[in-house]
Amino acid sequence: MNTELLQNFAAGRWQTGAGEGTTLFDPVLGTALVRVSNAGLDLKEAFEFARLQGGTALRALTYKQRAAKLEEIVSVLSENKAAYYDIATANSGTTTRDSAVDIDGGIFTLATYAKMGAKLGDHTLLLDGERIRMGKDPLFQTQHFLTSTPGVALFINAFNFPSWGLWEKAAPALLSGVPVIIKPATATAWLTQRMVQDVVNANILPLGALSVICGSSSGLMDQLEAFDVVSFTGSADTGRIIRSHPAVAEKSVRCNIEADSLNSALLDPNTQVDSDVFQLLVAEVVREMTVKSGQKCTAIRRIFVPATLYQATAEAISAKLKKITVGNPRNEAVRMGALVSQEQHQHVLSGIATLKQEAEVLFDGNSGELIEADKQISACVAPVLLGTQTPESAHVLHDIEVFGPVATLMAYQDIHQAYRLIQRGMGSLVMSVYSDDPSFIAQTSVALGAHHGRVHAISPDVASLHTGHGNVMPMSLHGGPARAGGGEELGGLRALNFYHRRSALQASTSALDALAQTATPLIY
Ligand code: NAP
Repeated sequence: MNTELLQNFAAGRWQTGAGEGTTLFDPVLGTALVRVSNAGLDLKEAFEFARLQGGTALRALTYKQRAAKLEEIVSVLSENKAAYYDIATANSGTTTRDSAVDIDGGIFTLATYAKMGAKLGDHTLLLDGERIRMGKDPLFQTQHFLTSTPGVALFINAFNFPSWGLWEKAAPALLSGVPVIIKPATATAWLTQRMVQDVVNANILPLGALSVICGSSSGLMDQLEAFDVVSFTGSADTGRIIRSHPAVAEKSVRCNIEADSLNSALLDPNTQVDSDVFQLLVAEVVREMTVKSGQKCTAIRRIFVPATLYQATAEAISAKLKKITVGNPRNEAVRMGALVSQEQHQHVLSGIATLKQEAEVLFDGNSGELIEADKQISACVAPVLLGTQTPESAHVLHDIEVFGPVATLMAYQDIHQAYRLIQRGMGSLVMSVYSDDPSFIAQTSVALGAHHGRVHAISPDVASLHTGHGNVMPMSLHGGPARAGGGEELGGLRALNFYHRRSALQASTSALDALAQTATPLIY
């Protein structure tokens, strides 16, 4: 059967790529869904159109007007949500609950930026900080200010968040007046393409403000010019290719990289077995291992507990993992669907085999039956908990991210050893700490803050309030140092910095007054 070939929206019109294209599959049933191709597209035209038409029209609007457009996008996406859930079930193999993280998470992020943007008012310029005197006489001062970059934002995204991955980047870009070209990961490009199609058909944005190019990444980076920006999410290997591309290396194209990460969970050394704190760690680890089948860049991969609690923690986590049903997400009895593709299935199985060289198997659900899914056809993998009581001598356990429902329990002897071991992740997106001692939480965040974009503390008083180790909230920073890519996204209005250029006006106070008339202070 010949499946639909999805169209690209580039240079302000729908365009069909040449040839057969690449087929996208249902990872549970193995059936072909749709195809993507951008072969033959004039990429130069697409980028120039976005820069000139989209960028100029967006920058003519105020922050408040752009925020209103984000609000309209929220309405359109909300109206069409049912179709997005169907696509996610078919193409990502996710349960309704897991699809919500991506679909509703994306819409929530857009809505949050719409609200924050409205508060910036009818201005087109942002002031950064106070005026600073340049000498004894206060007449001559400097004022830093931010203007929208007069280029295009290219987003190259990963397969695990086809909705949220688009909107968490597009919301601050569009609010900043910067046009967007999204290149979704091929395996799950359908949902991204459909959402862009709905927004384009609703005529909300100026032509050229939002484009989607599906299929091969070939030639995209070559189009980037000096004032463009590129934001990449994906593996560290591809991140290296992006970072060393001549556009970045020679033209100083600004580049944000969100790569893989060996995120940690740390249990306070003074924890008693079966205490509230202990139970909070167990519940969060199970949630992180199983939401989206562990295909979250922020998921917990390494769990650090005092050596005396190693056995008890292994048993408590395993008991909960045993109850996780795996299979076809269309069946309501299924708690965890599939990985996104057969390719990921193979990666995860070989990753588990590698980790096993240094770890014991504490739990493996893969001998159990799948619900309404065929082990030979589907990309389903059940949860696997590995463990080591000698994490100091391990190497791959601190180095290899297995992008599936897999984590490793590690016993530590004292808190300083735990800190050292966590640091062997070489920079992560997030760590969570489980404790009812506020000073321990503060001490840990200071000791490990430089190694993480985010420290998420779970104590009994916030048990029902906290937003989850792996959930990325628009008001809080996302991104991690070093191995995690060194990128920064979200963090409320901090995200606008990436899409603006900072300049300093050194002038008389009357000129600074004139500048201030069109501007509003950027207050985080
Ligand atoms: P990937 O293979 O690196 O692909 C990511 C994106 O890059 C895809 O759109 C891919 O296109 C494109 N790409 C591949 N080769 C390229 C090249 N030479 N030049 C330009 N673009 C290229 O990563 P993935 O397998 O999709 O994603 C899984 C990884 O992403 C995991 O390691 C995970 O930790 C990481 N991740 C990180 C975050 C974060 O926020 N830090 C979030 C999600 C995922 P094709 O699909 O067409 O190949």
